Amino acid sequence: MRLDNIEESENVEDRRGEGGYDGGGGGGGFGFPGGRGGLGFGTIALLTLVGWALGINPAILIGGAEIVTGNRGGQVTSQRQSAPPRQSAEEEQLRSFVSRVLKTNEDVWKQVLPDQRGVAFRTAPLVLFRGATNSRCGGAESAMGPFYCPVDTRIYLDMSFFEEMRTRLRAGGDFAYAYVIAHEMGHHIENLLGILPKVQQAQQRLSRREANALSVRVELMADCLAGVWAYHANQRYRVLEQGDIEEALTAAAAIGDDKLQKQAQGYVVPDSFTHGSSEQRMRWLQQGLRTGQVQACDTFNSRAL
Ligand SMILES: [Zn+2]
Repeated sequence: MRLDNIEESENVEDRRGEGGYDGGGGGGGFGFPGGRGGLGFGTIALLTLVGWALGINPAILIGGAEIVTGNRGGQVTSQRQSAPPRQSAEEEQLRSFVSRVLKTNEDVWKQVLPDQRGVAFRTAPLVLFRGATNSRCGGAESAMGPFYCPVDTRIYLDMSFFEEMRTRLRAGGDFAYAYVIAHEMGHHIENLLGILPKVQQAQQRLSRREANALSVRVELMADCLAGVWAYHANQRYRVLEQGDIEEALTAAAAIGDDKLQKQAQGYVVPDSFTHGSSEQRMRWLQQGLRTGQVQACDTFNSRAL
């Protein structure tokens, strides 16, 4: 991925080095020793527990690219460090990369959203954190993977997730990481289009199975919108290099529900899917990439997903 001539975004909120928050108020806090880092089986068990405690389907948290909804006011216990951790050159490079990718998202959507949908774009700040932080959707833990919080309209990212993608999911590469950021921005676009609030409202009346089916549509649309971003970012800045598309598709496949379930439990339960299968995620990403059209991402009026 080529980002040489692209400036950094002004909307990265760097909370690394702050440790976890305990945003005042006390009580209700939860802290997870060892929560940072791996998504091993221990962590998956932990996530199941967390999901249960929060009333969130744990499969959602494992998805790695997720929206967390509802203002649960959960607070993460403080893991304050006496001094900010040292930042390696590698980490600084990664921070700059994330910031530039965010900038291309902002530039693209500032134009595409009004042009194609007549809707003004407002930015979604990206919060970089390490280990744990607070969001208005509840506590953010690095093990949850990146997510978008519609309540504070922010994207939360612990960059250690990229290392997880590279090692555990075998889906590394700069464009794979960019796809994850663009997917979260896709949720923000869905929010600006008024889709997220409608879906959340509908989900409260639905069975778990039906709510999951709606969630799959939300996720596949975000994948498609990530493709729309890639299309326009490439038109505008020629960001794509040889192998980039394959990287993103590999990542989309790696975080398909069927693949993740098979890894975690050895079998697949389609009714419990919240993000879509590997094949679906790849196909909707490609749909956005091929067309560059938000309209082409309407998973809600598409019979076949
Ligand atoms: Zn998502």
